[in-house]
Amino acid sequence: MTIFQKIIDKQIPAKIVYEDDEVLAFRDIMPQAPVHVLVIPKRAIVGVSSSTDDDALLLGKLLVAARKVAEAEGVAQSGYRLVINNGVHGGQSVDHLHVHVLGGRALTWPPG
Ligand code: AMP
Repeated sequence: MTIFQKIIDKQIPAKIVYEDDEVLAFRDIMPQAPVHVLVIPKRAIVGVSSSTDDDALLLGKLLVAARKVAEAEGVAQSGYRLVINNGVHGGQSVDHLHVHVLGGRALTWPPG
């Protein structure tokens, strides 16, 4: 079981900022920007690579939730970055699909 599954199951605490039937969003424990929220599906999907065509609606809902989070966090106008790390070279450290919502400061590009 991943740490995010434990958050979904309310076995460990998290600072939840958005929740609906299929999606949960909570603050990253090691924020890399003034706003750093993780948006995850409640259904366990390891990552983009293991998603299927049948997950298309749920994947879209993650982006819709990310937009809502950005608006609620007050970064919609200033701008923000959505990141999905996938697999080892992508820097994924938790094997439960998650979208990082990063904002509140100017972010550099490209990533290292
Ligand atoms: P990634 O490297 O893309 O897999 O991102 C995983 C993110 O999960 C990292 O930014 C971590 O800081 C964050 N993280 C790990 N454990 C927790 C936790 N218990 N609560 C909130 N965020 C966490």
